Amino acid sequence: MHPLIDPPNELLAEWLAARGLPAFRLRQIRRWMFQRRADSFEAMTDLPASLRRELAEQFAVLSSRVARHEQADDRTEKLLLQLADAEQVECVLLRDDRGHRTACVSTQVGCGMGCVFCASGLSGLARNLSAGEIVEQLLHLERLLPHDERLTHVVVMGMGEPLANLDALLPALAVACDREGPGISVRRITISTVGLPAGIRRLAGLPSPYQLAVSLHAPDDELRTRLLPAARTIGLRAVLEAADDYFARTGRQVTYEYVLVAGVNDRPGHAERLAGLLQGRCVLVNLIPLNPVPGLPYRGSSAAAVRRFQDGLERAGVRVQVRRRKGGGISGACGQLRRERGNPPVPAAGGAASTEAGQSSAGP
Ligand code: SAH
Repeated sequence: MHPLIDPPNELLAEWLAARGLPAFRLRQIRRWMFQRRADSFEAMTDLPASLRRELAEQFAVLSSRVARHEQADDRTEKLLLQLADAEQVECVLLRDDRGHRTACVSTQVGCGMGCVFCASGLSGLARNLSAGEIVEQLLHLERLLPHDERLTHVVVMGMGEPLANLDALLPALAVACDREGPGISVRRITISTVGLPAGIRRLAGLPSPYQLAVSLHAPDDELRTRLLPAARTIGLRAVLEAADDYFARTGRQVTYEYVLVAGVNDRPGHAERLAGLLQGRCVLVNLIPLNPVPGLPYRGSSAAAVRRFQDGLERAGVRVQVRRRKGGGISGACGQLRRERGNPPVPAAGGAASTEAGQSSAGP
């Protein structure tokens, strides 16, 4: 069984062409998938019944299925998706009071970067996601919204290191931006990276560049390498140079993410050195109070320490935002998405395309 969503969808296009079917059939199918949120070929009622039957024999409308659906009190929703090979990934729908409906998507099963405070890499990297599996996360998340609402933003901040899987991510994001698909503007798509310079340069060369967020987390290489082992061979200098280059080539201001870990990287001296490092650069620093991960010894900085850190940066002229924690009660916040192991959840009734797995409501 082939996945229906498999950017650039050549297989489906070829399959239709081989049957002498006109190109508009492809557009029709895409409309059913993206606009009308069909879960089965049967639902695609303006396709001939014989074609629907044949398609159903060859293609799976969705190759992943919702194995678990959780909702937090702040209306954040998290899906655990089961992939065709029984691996699992998580993705999150975030809402805010400005009407933003943001999909947070994963790019890998697990993660190979090993950041010491993050749940996603706890059991290493299993595999890259395919472009289709990334797009399917958007489809599943959009299906959580009422019919008159659509996703407005995408953040590639789920499990995995996006720049280690650009070959799948870029075709997936092209679909996300496609007017006949989710139709999300490139300016509303943010890719967060641990800071892989070659990948950043590749992103800078795209005709329509995305927003870039770089995980910094420390003002010097020694501390950064302790927190982000993957940074060992990539000095801060190389990361900043690649990000400067990104800004110069695209005109897009880069965001630096800085997770505040109590007693580790949140002292006034760290803020001072961070401000020194970023001096003269037109950037935004996004402070993220650490979200706790069971089994890991790190704690988030106190509200007072966050405030002090923010003040220190602002006094030095650095623009700062503090990321509001969302989805904490369902372990759907930054750094809390993980690869589930052990017993796979019980399959949802209704087969592969079902989005109606049981909802469990978890308070924070
Ligand atoms: N691999 C990408 C995406 C990671 S998730 C990257 O490294 O940027 C997005 C952000 O959440 C990153 O800045 C990441 O370092 C941060 N993060 C990881 N674990 C966290 C935790 N426990 N609490 C808060 N933020 C965390």
